[in-house]
Amino acid sequence: MATKGMNKINRIRTFALSLVFIGIFIMYIGLFFDSSPIIMTITMILGFIFVIASSGVYFWIGMISTSTVKVECPNCGKITKVLGKVDVCMYCDEPLTMDPELEGKEFDPKYNRKSHNNT
Ligand SMILES: [Zn+2]
Repeated sequence: MATKGMNKINRIRTFALSLVFIGIFIMYIGLFFDSSPIIMTITMILGFIFVIASSGVYFWIGMISTSTVKVECPNCGKITKVLGKVDVCMYCDEPLTMDPELEGKEFDPKYNRKSHNNT
C-alpha cells in the first residue's frame, strides 16, 4: 500500500472506483466471446453488477459523509474529514483522533512528523 490515501473516505472512494474499472474490464473481456452469446451475456451482467455495486458504494459514501467531522489538520493546515474516532488526514496522512484518550495509542501522533529533533 502507498502511504497516501489511507483516510477512510478516500479508501472507500478508491474501492468504489476500482469496482467501476473491474466492471468495465469484465464487460470488455466479454467482447472477446462474441462467438458465445452465453459467456458474453454472463460477463455483461457480471460487469453491470460491479458498476451498480460501485454506485451503491458511492451512495454509501454520501450517507457516511454526513457523520464525518471537519477538522483542520495540525500538520498541513488543510480542512480534512474525520470518520469515526481515529482517522488520518486526507492530504498528508497525519493521524487524527476525536478521542483524547486514544492519542498516541492506535496511531502515534508523531508518526508522520518530519521535525521532532527538538531535544
Ligand atoms: Zn494534513
